Amino acid sequence: MAKKVIIIGGGAYGLAAGTYLAMNGFDTEIHEMHSIPGGVCTAWTRKGYTFDFCIHWLMGSSPGKSLYHTWTELGAVQGRRMIEPDIYLKWQSKEGETFTIYTDPEKLRAEMRRLGPDDTRFIDSFINGIVSFSKFDIPARKEDQSFGMMFKMIGFMPKLMKWGGMDVTKFAGKFKSPHLKQFFTDMYVGGGMGGFPVMGMMMMLGFMAARSNGYPEGGSLKFIQAIESTYKKHGGKIVYNSKVDKIVVENGNAAGIVAGGKEVRGDYVISAADGYATLNKLLEGKYSHPKIDQAYAEWEPFPSLLFISLGIARKFDNMPSMFHFYAKNPLTIEGGKQTITMVPLRLFNNDTTMAPAGKTAATSMISTYHDEYWSALKKSDKAKYDAEKKRIADWIIDECEAYFGDFKNKVEVVDVATPDTIIRYTGNWHGSYEGWLPDKKTMMKTLPSQVNGLGNFYMLGQWISPGGGLPPAAMEGRKLARKICKTEGVKFHTV
Ligand SMILES: Cc1cc2nc3c(=O)[nH]c(=O)nc-3n(C[C@H](O)[C@H](O)[C@H](O)COP(=O)(O)OP(=O)(O)OC[C@H]3O[C@@H](n4cnc5c(N)ncnc54)[C@H](O)[C@@H]3O)c2cc1C
Repeated sequence: MAKKVIIIGGGAYGLAAGTYLAMNGFDTEIHEMHSIPGGVCTAWTRKGYTFDFCIHWLMGSSPGKSLYHTWTELGAVQGRRMIEPDIYLKWQSKEGETFTIYTDPEKLRAEMRRLGPDDTRFIDSFINGIVSFSKFDIPARKEDQSFGMMFKMIGFMPKLMKWGGMDVTKFAGKFKSPHLKQFFTDMYVGGGMGGFPVMGMMMMLGFMAARSNGYPEGGSLKFIQAIESTYKKHGGKIVYNSKVDKIVVENGNAAGIVAGGKEVRGDYVISAADGYATLNKLLEGKYSHPKIDQAYAEWEPFPSLLFISLGIARKFDNMPSMFHFYAKNPLTIEGGKQTITMVPLRLFNNDTTMAPAGKTAATSMISTYHDEYWSALKKSDKAKYDAEKKRIADWIIDECEAYFGDFKNKVEVVDVATPDTIIRYTGNWHGSYEGWLPDKKTMMKTLPSQVNGLGNFYMLGQWISPGGGLPPAAMEGRKLARKICKTEGVKFHTV
């Protein structure tokens, strides 16, 4: 009889592991507390507008990269138009100067040289790094770990060493150009991500230069629903609105879960839910691992978000999809804890499926580490909580009116999510949107997927793979499925 694997959490990682296990004949059952799949990889629809929360870029979105094979195995990319942008982002400084981040490295070189004529050597070395990273590949599958690929990776070592050791704060500080310095500071340091490795940014731009880091038309929920349907096609079961409260342990082994007062037994339990809750609630703080304890004591999570969605009854032709500009009137929020100076705007003008004809869905992501402020406010004074959400949305609308004109009167839908919303829908620790922040402490590391003294139990997800993101969902989900196959003497296959 097929061994039963219970998976807690139907986010990207839980679904990926479940799909590979179901393909290999395991009896898989995902328990997801929400009514839809995806976790943070999600979108929602209001009055005909779809507001996408997640995918800005998908590494391996097009053929030529190893990751593309995993997305194909998961059924996520077939028949889906990938939008590989020419411009990643356009930024406008306080003085009105613009910086366009082209995905073509040569166009980007010219743009950076224009802004930083005294930074030519440094710019060249940065761009040449991006060109190198465009040829780089991550062996996403064991089958792709060929000698040739490994040999090629060794060739990247000097570049990895050079850029891997530099964080964005140091990188920004190297520019003489005030605009370039300001841009990199705004993008990362201002959002609490000053320790972000430059290499991560170069890898992203490298994959964009290789035209394999695009946005899937239809957005994040459609992308994840495609994986869910592959999962189901292979016989996988998913139980929605099923919040797991406990992992059942018997004789040192995970033996099942308790959800909604009901016990469900299994041969393996995988938690692809929030890491902190898994350890402290589902396992009642009884099991851990020294490396995991150290991470929770020393590592920084990604911030949470204030996420403002607008449905606008007009088009924004000739605008890049990602556009950040300085606010005319900065806004102080969170009881004086934070002042927002930039308006980060994402216009879904490249995807006609996201809004009715002639209209545009837009979103704005504002980072915050003050999740407690929002949760406490909602609990103590719901009217003030709602008023604060409205104040932030009104501010963005006013700033956009001042910038674009003909904006305010066209806004048909306003939706604001706070860190409290993220916690409520996904359970992520502090409402973090991507798990552990990549920096020197976490770079190239993964946390143990097993805890001491507990058999038949694995953890998976963005709290095990620092930096989070969708690529490790496919890679780590596959790897774990292979591991369980090996334990059970099943020859791993993918059809
Ligand atoms: C705003 C934003 C932008 C992003 N942009 C990109 C991007 O451009 N490219 C990219 O590659 N990645 C991006 N990411 C990151 C990527 O989406 C995440 O790292 C990844 O989806 C995390 O998946 P996960 O399965 O680990 O966690 P989650 O998505 O949090 O999934 C965990 C699931 O477990 C469920 N759950 C929790 N507790 C329980 C319980 N007790 N019982 C049952 N179910 C439970 C939750 O409801 C959730 O569905 C972005 C993320 C965000 C939020």
